[in-house]
Amino acid sequence: MKRLILVGGGHSHVEVLRRLALSPLRDARVVLVSSERQTVYSGMLPGYIAGHYSFSDCHIELEPLCAAAGVELRTAGACHIDAVARSVHLDDGATLAYDVLSLNIGSTPDTTSIAGALEHGVPVKPLSRFVRAWNAIEAGAARERSVIAVVGAGAGGVELVLAVQHRLARVGRPGSVFHLLTDAATILPDHAFAVRRKLERVLRQRGIHIHSSSRVTALDGARLHRAAGAPLAVTHVLITTGARGAHWLGRTGLKTDARGFVAVNAALQSLSHVEIFAAGDIASIEGYALPKSGVYAVREGPLLADNLRRALAGRPLVRYRPQANALALISTGDRSAVMSWRRFALEGRWVWRWKDRIDRRFIAKYRIAERPA
Ligand SMILES: Cc1cc2nc3c(=O)[nH]c(=O)nc-3n(C[C@H](O)[C@H](O)[C@H](O)COP(=O)(O)OP(=O)(O)OC[C@H]3O[C@@H](n4cnc5c(N)ncnc54)[C@H](O)[C@@H]3O)c2cc1C
Repeated sequence: MKRLILVGGGHSHVEVLRRLALSPLRDARVVLVSSERQTVYSGMLPGYIAGHYSFSDCHIELEPLCAAAGVELRTAGACHIDAVARSVHLDDGATLAYDVLSLNIGSTPDTTSIAGALEHGVPVKPLSRFVRAWNAIEAGAARERSVIAVVGAGAGGVELVLAVQHRLARVGRPGSVFHLLTDAATILPDHAFAVRRKLERVLRQRGIHIHSSSRVTALDGARLHRAAGAPLAVTHVLITTGARGAHWLGRTGLKTDARGFVAVNAALQSLSHVEIFAAGDIASIEGYALPKSGVYAVREGPLLADNLRRALAGRPLVRYRPQANALALISTGDRSAVMSWRRFALEGRWVWRWKDRIDRRFIAKYRIAERPA
């Protein structure tokens, strides 16, 4: 019997599981290795922080999904791949052999250039760890006047600082201060001018301090140091800087790009190892420079599911043509949002309601196993 190992319960693998639940693989043993039993959905994370969603609204339970798919769930982190022996090493000491391996482990903020980032800052990924850290910050916010710095001003960073401010205005001590820092010349450098202008206006109206061209160099627990300018006194630093691939992949011999993402072809197949696939943030598709966005991870799910079956059966793979532009709905903390599409921007409560419908529908799709028969 062939062995398929799925590593990471990201957006693409939950779709693989859903499809396996609808049409099980009879001649293969499938294992999902996931560091968490739940997948937190990043699209709803800012809404969770702002207090609009409960935790159960914004996560997918992997156990019932795996059970419905006939897949064994191993709650452990993968820490090495022996690509010669074709085995995955787990951080609980186990080793799993594979015939076909698929990686959907996301990305992490690049903290390598910020000294003390891991000791004194809170990286936004892994999301489950971030959620635990945020819950502690929120619980302590009534006792102290918070000074929160969000490092990284892409869509995630902008949403995060607005959501945190919205929440702490309700549960925190009055007088909290919020900073948004980026080493780029502007916030949201990957979005159109019209989008930037709208969100800059919102940030300024809310009194959030924007520090552009401001490279953060170190954190020491009480202060945030920058390449230029005086240090900022801070109580908490949330880090959403540009993404990179997991460090441990660097020791596996897998071909990666300059940021450590697995280099794959348009069939999501590793350029160096034909039996290994990668999708979502961790994949770097040859010939495309896609942003790290859940939209692509979701779109790759059906193709990955198909190609994993084909690879197990030794059939030819199908190729993926990523969409050139992705719609982004950027929430502003107060049940309002800005739509970013190419060079266009629209804003309002209706955009948030639209996003809310899309996000709730996404989560509901993966609760098939929890529905009564
Ligand atoms: C605040 C914020 C808001 C965002 N909002 C949006 C949005 O609205 N729309 C959008 O398109 N994108 C959004 N993004 C980007 C989005 O989060 C990512 O692009 C998306 O999560 C990538 O999906 P993925 O499936 O590749 O990985 P992930 O969703 O990160 O899933 C990877 C999974 O693998 C697990 N894992 C990691 N390492 C291991 C290991 N070694 N062993 C086992 N398991 C492992 C993790 O625990 C995780 O469950 C947002 C990002 C942030 C930070």
